[in-house]
Amino acid sequence: NTPLQEDDKEIYDLIQKEKYRQYSGLELIASENFTSLAVMEANGSPLTNKYSEGLPGARYYGGNEYIDQVENLCRKRALQAFRLNPEEWGVNVQPYSGSTANFSALTALIQPHDRLMGLDLPSGGHLTHGWQTSKKKISSSSIYFESMPYQVNSETGLIDYDRLEENANLFRPKLIICGASAYARDWEYAKLRKIADIHGAYLMADIAHIGGLVAGQEANNPFELCDVVTTTTHKTLRGPRAGLIFFRKKDDLESRVNNAVFPSCQGGPHNNAIAAVAVALKQAASPEFKQYAKQVRANAKALGEALVNYEYKLVTGGTDNHLILWDLRPLKLTGSKVEKICDMVNITVNKNSIHGDTNMLAPGGVRIGTSALTSRSFKEQDFVKVAEYLHRAVQIALSVQEKAGSKMMKDFVMACQDNEDIANLKKEV
Ligand code: PLP
Repeated sequence: NTPLQEDDKEIYDLIQKEKYRQYSGLELIASENFTSLAVMEANGSPLTNKYSEGLPGARYYGGNEYIDQVENLCRKRALQAFRLNPEEWGVNVQPYSGSTANFSALTALIQPHDRLMGLDLPSGGHLTHGWQTSKKKISSSSIYFESMPYQVNSETGLIDYDRLEENANLFRPKLIICGASAYARDWEYAKLRKIADIHGAYLMADIAHIGGLVAGQEANNPFELCDVVTTTTHKTLRGPRAGLIFFRKKDDLESRVNNAVFPSCQGGPHNNAIAAVAVALKQAASPEFKQYAKQVRANAKALGEALVNYEYKLVTGGTDNHLILWDLRPLKLTGSKVEKICDMVNITVNKNSIHGDTNMLAPGGVRIGTSALTSRSFKEQDFVKVAEYLHRAVQIALSVQEKAGSKMMKDFVMACQDNEDIANLKKEV
C-alpha cells in the first residue's frame, strides 16, 4: 500500500477514479493536457515543504541553497524554450497560475484606474483581460483598472483590428492585451504593436493556450513585438499548473515585474511547481516536443475539416492552432446540451460562448482542443474518428431535444434516460 492509501483511503480512491476517468475517455478540453510522469514526480516532491519568499540569492528565509538552483534552472530553461536572449529578456517563474501571472503583470505595467484593452470574453478572451458586462465589473482586471474590451467581427469570427484601432483612438489605453482562451486563429502582432505605439501603450501577449505552439515554432512569435508575455504552463506547454511572466529588459520592467509578483500579489513560491515547470521546459526545448506541437496543429486541422465535411459550422471556418470553436447555433442546439451528451459517453469537451451569445450558462458553442489526445499519440486519422463520435453525439442531442419537447436542461437530462444510442456510443468510445 502507498502512504496515501494508508493515511487517507477516501482521497486515494477518488484520485484513482479520476485517473481512470482521464485515461478511459476522450479528453478534448482545449486547456488541458497529460503531463509526464517526470513532471508529476517533481510536482509531488519535498520541495513543497520549503518557504523561499524573494528571488534566488535574496530570500527572506534560510535553507534555500537548492531551491535557488531549481529556480535559476527554471528561469534559464524558460528563456531557452522560447529562444530568448538573456540580455534582452528576463522571466519570473513564481506565479501560481495564469490568472495570478496576469494580475501581477497588470500591477507591474499600469497604475490603478489606468486604461486597458483586451479581447472580450464572449469573443474568446480570458476573464483576466478586463472582463466586465454592461451591468457588472467581474474580473479584478476590470475592478481595479478601466477596461474597454475589443471584439471579433460577428460575421467572420476574426479579431476586428480596424475597430480596435478606432476604439483605441477614443479610449487611449495604457495597455493592450492580446491572447485568448477560445480563438482558433493566430495573432497579427504587428497591427497591435502599431496601435499600442500610437498611444505609448504597453503590448502584452497572454499565450496561455498557445505557449506550446510558440515554443515549438508552430505559431507567430509574440516575443518579437511584445513588451511582456505571460503564459500558463499546463496547456499546450504540457507542464504542471503554474504561470510565467516574461519581460523585456527595459523601463525597469525587471524589478517592476518581480516586485509585482512578490510582495504585491503573491507570497512564498510553490517550489515543487517551479521544479516541475523546469522539467516541462526542458522537454519543451526538445526535437520531440517540436514534432508534438506540429502534430497538435495537424490534428486540429484534420478534426476541423472532418466536422466541416459533416456540414457543421466552425467559427472562422477552421483553425490555425490547437482548438476549434464549433458553432451549434444553426442547429438550434446549445453547447451545454452537447457537453452533457459528450459527458455521458466519456468524451470531455466544454460549452463555450460564441460572439453574440447572451446566456453564458447555455452558450451556442463547444470548444474542442487536440493537445491532450495528441500527447496520447493520436494522429490525423484518429481525429477523423473523434469527429465521427462527435457527429453522433450531436445527432443524439438533437433527437433527445426533440423528445424532451422543451428547451429546459432538466427535461433534456430526463429524456436521455435509457437511450440506447447513448449506451452504444459510450461502449464504442
Ligand atoms: N489566460 C488565458 C488565455 C487562459 O485561457 C487561462 C485559463 O484558461 C488563464 C489565463 C488563467 O490560467 P489559470 O487557470 O492557470 O489561472
